[in-house]
Amino acid sequence: MQFIDTHSHLDTHHFAGDFKEVLSRSRQAGVIAQILPGVFQSWWPNLLEVCRSEKDLHAAPGLHPLYLDHHSPHHLEELTLLAQSERIVAIGEIGLDYYHRNSPKQAQEDLFIAQLRIADVHGLPVLLHVRKAHDQVQAILRRKYFKHGGIVHAFSGSRQQAEHYLKLGFKIAFGGTITYDRATKIREVAKHLPLEAIVLETDAPDIPPAHHNGERNSPEYLPLVLDSLAALRPESKALIAEATTANAISVFGLDDLIVGT
Ligand SMILES: [Zn+2]
Repeated sequence: MQFIDTHSHLDTHHFAGDFKEVLSRSRQAGVIAQILPGVFQSWWPNLLEVCRSEKDLHAAPGLHPLYLDHHSPHHLEELTLLAQSERIVAIGEIGLDYYHRNSPKQAQEDLFIAQLRIADVHGLPVLLHVRKAHDQVQAILRRKYFKHGGIVHAFSGSRQQAEHYLKLGFKIAFGGTITYDRATKIREVAKHLPLEAIVLETDAPDIPPAHHNGERNSPEYLPLVLDSLAALRPESKALIAEATTANAISVFGLDDLIVGT
C-alpha cells in the first residue's frame, strides 16, 4: 500500500539528528510523498532546501496563526516571491486559532486573508490550521470566493462543519487523534464522511498515534492512522489507502506520482 502524509514537519529541528533514517523508514512503510507546511519565515530556507534535495518531500510555506510575534509584513512579500519562483505545492499552514487566546483575532484574520490572496493569485491550494474558528474560516473563504481548495489539517469540528468544507472544495485530514478510542466525536466524523473527502496526515512530531503516546510522532507511523480509519469504516484498508492517496494527489497536483505500480 502507498500513502501520502499531507502534513509532516520533517524539516524541523525535531528530526535534525535522524532525518535520513526517518525518511528512509517512512518510505519503507509506504509513504510515497510528504507535504511539509511552513510555520514561520526563518524556517522556510531549510524547508525549501530539504524539498529540493528529496523528490518525495513537497513544500507548502506559510505563516502559522499562532506565531504572530515571529511574522512581519515583508514575510508576506517573500511568500509572494516564493509562490512565483519555487516549486511549492500549497500555502500552509494558515488559518485561525481561537483556542489559544493570546493570539489577537483581528491580526490572525488579516494574516489569513493576505495569505489566501497569495494562494489565489498563484492558483495554489491551502493547508488550513483551524481551532475553535471553523465558522469564521468558512465565512472568510466564502467572502473571498476562494476557489483553489486544500486541506483542513487536524480537523476537530463537527460533521456539519466538515460537510461545509467539502462544499468549499476542501478535503479533511485525519491523523493520530482518530487512533484514540476516547476521541469519539472526531471518530464519528471520520466514519461518515465520503471517502473522496478524506486524506491522511501525521503532523509529526506532534499528535502521536495511540501506540506511540508520549513519543515523537513520525511519518513512518502513517499506516497506524489508516488502521484506525479502516476499523471505523466499511471499506478495506487497501481501498482507503488508494483513495486517500489519490485525493492527496489531486489536491496538490502531484500527477507525476504514479500510484500502484
Ligand atoms: Zn502542523
